[in-house]
Amino acid sequence: MKNDVKIRNEMLSWYDAHARVLPWRSKPSERPDPYYVWLSEVMLQQTTVQAVVPYFEKFISIWPTVHDLASATQDDVLREWAGLGYYSRARNLYKCAQAIVSEHDGIFPNSVKTLKSLSGIGDYTSAAIASIAFDIPSVVIDGNVERVISRLHRIDAPLPDSKTIIREYAQNLFIGDNTDRPSCFAQSLMDLGATICTPKSPKCEICPISKYCVAFEHCDAQVYPKKRKKSKIPEKYGVAYIYVHDGKVGIEKRPEKGMLAGMVGFPTSEWNEDSVDNIDDDMSAYKIRHVFTHFALTLYPQIINQKTYNMIEFKEVDKIGLPTLFKKVWNMIESDL
Ligand code: SF4
Repeated sequence: MKNDVKIRNEMLSWYDAHARVLPWRSKPSERPDPYYVWLSEVMLQQTTVQAVVPYFEKFISIWPTVHDLASATQDDVLREWAGLGYYSRARNLYKCAQAIVSEHDGIFPNSVKTLKSLSGIGDYTSAAIASIAFDIPSVVIDGNVERVISRLHRIDAPLPDSKTIIREYAQNLFIGDNTDRPSCFAQSLMDLGATICTPKSPKCEICPISKYCVAFEHCDAQVYPKKRKKSKIPEKYGVAYIYVHDGKVGIEKRPEKGMLAGMVGFPTSEWNEDSVDNIDDDMSAYKIRHVFTHFALTLYPQIINQKTYNMIEFKEVDKIGLPTLFKKVWNMIESDL
């Protein structure tokens, strides 16, 4: 595309003046730390920058290097990850750290192919690490980039159908005629999407590439990217059993497979699509709803005044790394115990 080289140049100048300061980014004169890039990119999968910053800072203060992370236990990593969601990321992060240390001498590989062979690193994350950490021209398409490209070209097909065409445009832009400063260019598009080409009310009047943007020309940027209507997610139901005795509450470690695998939490019934037997929705004292990616769960906490295995003091509950679902349960019932 004739404008791709111009867009790249405009974006690089804009980035030099306006790059966001983020804790995993290196200073302009320094090389990025691949450990920081990898850790941040895994945390940022499905999660906002705002939510990730405190977790990233906590992780690098506990485990400053990939060697430190690899020598932790999986339970330590899951505990510190608690609240960030999508817990398979934490298990894969740990597996990946161990592989980097045992199979790659603690050095992150710099090829997309090798990166992709590691746990938790797919198409996007491998391209992001190769580009940001190693300055290798790669096609890096996150949600921000997807939005910018959809608007630049006013792509009519809705997501996810439009992904193929977005990739074609991105391919020309990222690895076309000019591949100068791949790391800065990838991050510049991410920053533009995060700060200027935002989902609602894009600030086109200060956008460095507005003169190339077809949606801007038609004054309808907000319409893009179009999205296919979502089908309703299934509803599931379950009971959380809160065993309470003498200032202590029963906690269990969940199985290594299934939802919230390996995390700590309160024992629960199975989660089914049929509403729960013996629970009258209107009469039940407690009820929380939590939305996972593929279903929404309504959980009815039941307090049972008896001892069970693995009881911990109430004051310890906030320290054990409960996932958000069980934190919601605890916040709801704690003052009544
Ligand atoms: S002109 Fe507006 S819609 Fe187009 S890329 Fe810039 S901010 Fe996005």
